[in-house]
Order: sequence, then structure tokens, then C-alpha cells
Amino acid sequence: MATINIINVVKRHQFSWYEKFYFYSITKGLFITMKHFIKSAFLRGTVTVEYPETKRAYSSRFRGMHSLKRDELGRERCTACFCCMWICPADAIYIEAGEVTAERQHLHPEDKFAAKFEIDLLRCIFCGLCEEACPKGAIYLDGGGEMAADNREDLILTKERMTEKSGGPILGQRN
Ligand code: SF4
Ligand code: SF4
Repeated sequence: MATINIINVVKRHQFSWYEKFYFYSITKGLFITMKHFIKSAFLRGTVTVEYPETKRAYSSRFRGMHSLKRDELGRERCTACFCCMWICPADAIYIEAGEVTAERQHLHPEDKFAAKFEIDLLRCIFCGLCEEACPKGAIYLDGGGEMAADNREDLILTKERMTEKSGGPILGQRN
């Protein structure tokens, strides 16, 4: 039985005489650029912002850097229960618990506090599980999203950086 070979012949685009001059393509490109420039400058306004002078508002669902909250009396909510540390899928949280002594009782609602609390932003995937797991409502991912740094240390969030300020000295700061 005879076989039929079907060959697709691709015809090359034949350039017209004016297409052979670069002038045509350059003019066409410039026309498109000018069209967009006039549209954005005079007709619909700019669609970009002049960052960092101007910043867009974050969405309410945005997950940024972590913050540690205080209760209505200004005490640290975190009781070093380790729930956030165990649930973190990226192993980004490190906590050391401290015992609340008589002198520190006004700083913490229970008998333990986070003597050390660090989050490695280089590991964090901003999944929000730590926020969901926290039984005390102590940790939220409600910080900013600008995390550029030129060394690894700046990308470790320490407790001092994360703890909500209360106007006075940072409660729980290690002496
Ligand atoms: S947001 Fe997710 S990855 Fe980041 S510290 Fe919390 S649990 Fe870990
Ligand atoms: S932030 Fe919340 S979950 Fe994490 S150790 Fe503190 S109290 Fe526990």
C-alpha cells in the first residue's frame, strides 16, 4: 500500500520594500510607546506609584512580618507554650521559655514567658499557621512586607523587634 507523506511547507514572510528599512519598524515601535505614554499621562492617569515615597495599602489578607502582642494591661500575651514552634512547617521559630519570677509577675499573665523568641525570615514561608495555632492570640503576621537586607542577621526577627511597643521600656527584654 502506498504511503502518503504530508509535508507542511512554511512560506517565509516576504518583506515589502518599506519593511526592509529599519526606519519602518522603529517608527512603529515609537508610535506604540507614545500611544501608551499619552494614555497614561493624560487620559487614564498613572498606574504605578513612586515607591518608596508613595506606598500602596496592603490588602487586609496580606501576611507580613510577625508581631508579638500585649494584653489590655500591657503584659506580653505569649506564654511560651511552643504551639507555634511545633506547628511551623518551615522550622523557622525558636523559643526559649523562662519562668516568671515575683519581680516579673506584672509583665506576664502566666508562669512562663518567652525569654527568647526568634523567627528566621529566610526559612518562613508566611503560611500563617503560627498565628492560627496560638491559643493566646499573641502572634500575628500583621507587620510590613519590606524585608530586604544585606546580611542574614537582619532577617532574624528577635523578640525585641517583634514585641508590640507599649510606650515604656520593652517588657520581657532580657537583662
Ligand atoms: S508563618 Fe508559617 S512558616 Fe512562618 S513562622 Fe509562622 S508557621 Fe512558620
Ligand atoms: S506565640 Fe502563642 S503559640 Fe507561640 S509560644 Fe507564644 S503563646 Fe504559644
